[in-house]
Amino acid sequence: MPGTATRVLVADDDASLVQTLTWILKENGYEVAVCPGGDGLFAKLEEIKPALLLLDIMMPKVDGLQLLERLKQDERYRDLPVLMVSSMPPEEATVRALGLGAADFISKPFRVRELLARVEAHIRVGRALAQAREEARSRAAMVDILHEVTDSLKPDEMYHILARRVARALNISKCSMVLAKPGDQQGIVVAAYENPMLRNLQIELARYPEIRKAVSTGRLVLVEDVATDPLYEEERRRWEREEIKVPTRSAVALPFWMKEQQIGVFFLRTTGDDPPLTRADAQFAETVIKTAVSAIEKAYDFESAVSDKQRLEKLASTDALTGCMNRRALAEALAGELDRARRYNLALTIMLADLDRFKSINDTRGHIAGDSVLRQVGELLRREARSVDLVARYGGEEFVVVMPETSTQGAAIFAERVRSRVQNRDFADPGDDPVRVTISIGLATFPDDRVHSADSFVSLADQALYRAKNEGRNLVRQ
Ligand code: GH3
Ligand code: MG
Ligand code: MG
Repeated sequence: MPGTATRVLVADDDASLVQTLTWILKENGYEVAVCPGGDGLFAKLEEIKPALLLLDIMMPKVDGLQLLERLKQDERYRDLPVLMVSSMPPEEATVRALGLGAADFISKPFRVRELLARVEAHIRVGRALAQAREEARSRAAMVDILHEVTDSLKPDEMYHILARRVARALNISKCSMVLAKPGDQQGIVVAAYENPMLRNLQIELARYPEIRKAVSTGRLVLVEDVATDPLYEEERRRWEREEIKVPTRSAVALPFWMKEQQIGVFFLRTTGDDPPLTRADAQFAETVIKTAVSAIEKAYDFESAVSDKQRLEKLASTDALTGCMNRRALAEALAGELDRARRYNLALTIMLADLDRFKSINDTRGHIAGDSVLRQVGELLRREARSVDLVARYGGEEFVVVMPETSTQGAAIFAERVRSRVQNRDFADPGDDPVRVTISIGLATFPDDRVHSADSFVSLADQALYRAKNEGRNLVRQ
């Protein structure tokens, strides 16, 4: 029996037939509205929103088939089941009516039982269709939201959002994401809806036959009931042996890919109180996950593109031997710092350092040992400098340190410390004879009338360095 509110609209010009139909339908629990002769059919449909329309093909004022055609072109009535009624069954009209989207055809005189069976069947189909469409719409909306959200997040956060969304969409309490590759004995749970604080929990895949199977086959695995599914036979024996009570009732393991690489599975579970998972649930989860995963991929691409660019920029500005900034990058950075100092009226000091008699190190210990000294001096300078300072390799065995917001006095203390550290250090590789070296340092501070560019700034420091060399080396001069 249909529900009390199931409405049927009858559009027919034959008064006695309308009366009979109305009576039969009402007797069988339907609510019936009438639209005599099909006049004002659209207004009537809008008013009573029937679950089914009985429409006469041949009415004196309007053509039933034309009405049907208009109805089916209207978004609102696309899913409304329409039963065409006709006194004669002309073959052609039947075919045309069905072609235009009629659900079925009934010819007069009709048998009551047949009429009722068809009405009921078509209302049921109509409802299922409307529901499916509604679900598809809401799911599409959800997938859209997911897309938007995942586009702006890091994979770690996305895993959590995914787990939460899928769990909520399916209305189940347990949904986690497990990273595992074919052949792995262990998996890593990276997110779990039931435990939002969980991070990177290691699990033994032997305990989760559906995950292992999904990972090894790359296909969705549904276990509708862990108490009977053959996949769980071994585990069930273990539960019995170890007297373990397992709350899980059904489970789905759904593999997912990123960049054509199998990454892991979504693991959905229901416990005793939840309705068990069905194939439809699993398929829905698959749709959501696929969309979301492609969003994650895009985010990954974006992130790695950004970091690639940063890496390239860093590479292009770094000296390969010492890891310090190279001369080209220094020129750019120093111009910027000068500009800033000028604009905000700040002191800026640079130091130019040159290793003393470095040629003799190469001559006596070889180029490789010389390179090692340069590398160590670069490290030493970077370690001693503040994070705002810039350390660059200026030439073969020359280094520049740029010290923003630093006066000559402050820089002199730093330079003296560097000079002394270099002097007191052994630059030899472990086990080799000691390698000793000293360093000469020239300082220049902006503002200074002689400084009007990065180049003139460095030459001022070079003049100070020349004095340090001239006055005996292993000295700081300004
Ligand atoms: P001083 O500066 O005290 O006057 O003497 P110096 O011997 O250091 O001076 P000079 O500028 O004449 O020589 C610099 C030497 O540094 C020449 C070269 O052999 C060495 N040198 C430059 N670049 C490199 C490098 O990348 N690796 C090595 N091993 N040596 C380098
Ligand atoms: Mg030199
Ligand atoms: Mg030198």
